[in-house]
Amino acid sequence: MRVGIGTDVHPVEAGRECWVAGLLWEGVDGCAGHSDGDVAAHALCDALLSAAGLGDVGAVFGTGRPEWAGASGVTLLAEVRRLVTAEGWAVGNAAVQVIGNAPKIGKRRAEAQQVLSDAVGGPVSVSGTTTDGLGLTGRGEGIAAVATALLVPAT
Ligand code: MG
Repeated sequence: MRVGIGTDVHPVEAGRECWVAGLLWEGVDGCAGHSDGDVAAHALCDALLSAAGLGDVGAVFGTGRPEWAGASGVTLLAEVRRLVTAEGWAVGNAAVQVIGNAPKIGKRRAEAQQVLSDAVGGPVSVSGTTTDGLGLTGRGEGIAAVATALLVPAT
């Protein structure tokens, strides 16, 4: 078995669509970024790549790979799943925590978990927290996410 870790942060941009954990959050300002700014999906991608020893999101989908510019977080996750599977791994489970004032993950946790679990082909837990007004997430300047993943040999 192999564990991995991933982190992501994006700046909030007023009026931008908010894509977090594979869901569109109406009425919430979203994140600027190279793609849809889905910090949860991106942290999860990094955790899976980390566990498989395949580098990171920057190496796989970075600015040197313009064909991935604008891709949704779920699309990136599907590609990471393909890469990880090709190395002989399956997702045992994964967890991602979104850090910020909004969106409120608990309202749509089941939906988010379903979308991300379908994308990676294994169970994904989704949680949320705030930083009590402290730091860039507390001031609403950005949204962050941390993720872990456990890979098991594919049977
Ligand atoms: Mg990102």
